[in-house]
Amino acid sequence: MFKNLFKKKEKQTQSTFCYCPKCNNELISSNSFVSDEELVTYKCSECSHVTKWLFDAPVPLLIEGKE
Ligand SMILES: [Zn+2]
Repeated sequence: MFKNLFKKKEKQTQSTFCYCPKCNNELISSNSFVSDEELVTYKCSECSHVTKWLFDAPVPLLIEGKE
């Protein structure tokens, strides 16, 4: 059980998920990507809600577009 805590520093390129705060659509796998600048912008392919994410953290942080 405790082993999982120490595994967090491994690369997480395949395990990144961003969910739309409005409809819970998974943004990365649903082609919702808009632009990658200081923040990464997604426009939800389901409900068109725009969110901006910081990918510089261990997990993507939702910066703009919170409900
Ligand atoms: Zn949505």
